[in-house]
Amino acid sequence: MCGGEDFYTRKDFDPKMGLTVVVMGAGISAGFYWFGRDLIAYSVLGGAALIDLIVYRRLKEVTVCYRCHTEFRGAYARSAPAFDLHTADVLEQEYERRIGRR
Ligand SMILES: [Zn+2]
Repeated sequence: MCGGEDFYTRKDFDPKMGLTVVVMGAGISAGFYWFGRDLIAYSVLGGAALIDLIVYRRLKEVTVCYRCHTEFRGAYARSAPAFDLHTADVLEQEYERRIGRR
């Protein structure tokens, strides 16, 4: 278990899921476009973008450890700040040095 002290909060989002929706939408849309149904093609694209947006807005937040990337889910206050790239750089390198990956 992680005993770190530095965390950030991010959306509990699976990038593969979002990508699947976009790729599927683009594929179906290209099919309609090919058959000259551009209006339907654009609607499908717009629909896919909308689904992505709705899914994203319904996501819960997850607290992640900067060092070992452990994710914390559950009912507690999300007090960690938003992701900070500089902090991540510093802490990840420190962690990797400690476990001997660098
Ligand atoms: Zn940790």
